Amino acid sequence: VERDDDTHYFHSYEENDIHEIMLKDTVRTVSYARFILSNPKVFKDAVVMDVGCGTGILSMLAAKAGAKHVYAIEASGLAVKARENITKNGFKDVITVVQGKVEDIELPVKHVDVIVSEWMGYMLLYESMLDSVLVARDRFLAPTGLMAPSQTRLVLSAITGEREWRDRVEFWNSPYGFDLSTMQGPQFGEGSTEVVDKEEVVTTEAIVRDINSHSATIKSLDFHSSFVLKSTTSSPTTIRALLTHFDTFFSPHSGAEKSHVPPEEDVQILPFGDDEYKSPVTPLQPKDGQEGVPVSFTTGPRGKYTHWKQVVFLLRESITLDKGEEIVGKFYCKKSPTNSRELDVEIHYTVQKSGDSDVQGEREFTVQ
Ligand code: SAH
Repeated sequence: VERDDDTHYFHSYEENDIHEIMLKDTVRTVSYARFILSNPKVFKDAVVMDVGCGTGILSMLAAKAGAKHVYAIEASGLAVKARENITKNGFKDVITVVQGKVEDIELPVKHVDVIVSEWMGYMLLYESMLDSVLVARDRFLAPTGLMAPSQTRLVLSAITGEREWRDRVEFWNSPYGFDLSTMQGPQFGEGSTEVVDKEEVVTTEAIVRDINSHSATIKSLDFHSSFVLKSTTSSPTTIRALLTHFDTFFSPHSGAEKSHVPPEEDVQILPFGDDEYKSPVTPLQPKDGQEGVPVSFTTGPRGKYTHWKQVVFLLRESITLDKGEEIVGKFYCKKSPTNSRELDVEIHYTVQKSGDSDVQGEREFTVQ
């Protein structure tokens, strides 16, 4: 039998809950809204494709921003709801809902000017929906067209992990007075989505994958890259876990990626209702003379809560890192061979001590 990684995946998007969670994630939804509504140069009179429209929210924002026409593509049964929502809000003539996988559908137009999509999963690439968005880009985006978001980055850091260790490992030592420590083990083979306090981060961050939506290929999403995490504490610190989060950038110019500025402590205020979201990530800077409003958000511990949280990789053996010392290593990430929607992650590292002894580690994880 042919393997099917889609049926279960699309069924999961037919539940109300997931859409409620996404819409209530204001960091996520307000960032899209702000980009779409603040850039009339991009959206006014444009032909837009919304890959994976869900409830239709991004399509309706694009219509509100003056799009000439929006093609709202949705593979799951939620397409029916999207159509109803769009009709109820008076956008029936501007938005066409097409039910199907974006890989398979046909459009009455050759090209679209903008592709907007909220495809990001846990650890950015979980779900592998970016693959579909890249297929949509190659099938339908005009040569001068714009991808939104235009860039995403997967970021690695190291944390004390004390709370996670107590909660997920030590817990098994004596729940209700019994020794259930045989249950310890799987925790070290799986990345877990958790909210991590920013005070737990004790190293610098390393960008392990920087994805330009305009040029990325599906092949390049299985990758490995080198990283260096420098201690940011002043005394020896125990590290029990590594951490990933991702940052998302929207640029009104398809060429702006080249002039990006690394995420720093800059503060950007989104003028949306009572939700003044301050992004700790610097947006892409337009080139001189270019107009438009860039937008960005982080899912990292320095930012506001998002439904993506962060992904924690517990280490079986803790690391002690002193001031000036570094964790140096390689981060491997690829689609799981048994389910392309899941990820296999390997993190190889060496602790570079100021003295002579190096501690080596090699860990494998799945994100599922
Ligand atoms: N745009 C909505 C929903 C985002 S969730 C919002 O921002 O709230 C992603 C949606 O994309 C899901 O509804 C999922 O069913 C759909 N999707 C994922 N892969 C797809 C594909 N290849 N073709 C069409 N729809 C897809």
